[in-house]
Amino acid sequence: MTDQELEFFKSRILEKRSELLDELGYLKDSTMSSTPQEASGEHSAYAFHMADLGTDNMEREKAFLYAHRESRLLYHLEQALDRIDKKTYGDCRECGKPISHARLEAVPHATLCISCKSNEEKKKKSNNSK
Ligand SMILES: [Zn+2]
Repeated sequence: MTDQELEFFKSRILEKRSELLDELGYLKDSTMSSTPQEASGEHSAYAFHMADLGTDNMEREKAFLYAHRESRLLYHLEQALDRIDKKTYGDCRECGKPISHARLEAVPHATLCISCKSNEEKKKKSNNSK
């Protein structure tokens, strides 16, 4: 991959990364600050709290799971940036062949070429069916 191409993908990854960081920051704010007490007066806050406890917990759980998935993606993006610095970015970690640009544009943190990826998925499927 040429330096120009590396730069191109680097800026794509940085863009994605800052979007993710924004989203994660937003999630943090919205789950931390929305306590029932803030929403209404003392007595109604209690009723509101009791009635909403279940769904509230579920919302928090969902937000947590979402944040967890996002931070994993964030990790993959960081790894991709690292590979760009080392100029190993875009090489399949399984067979060492270059990953197609179309694939990298769709999944900038991809570490496997299409054929290794589909092999891996086949393996996963056969493991699951055991
Ligand atoms: Zn491969």
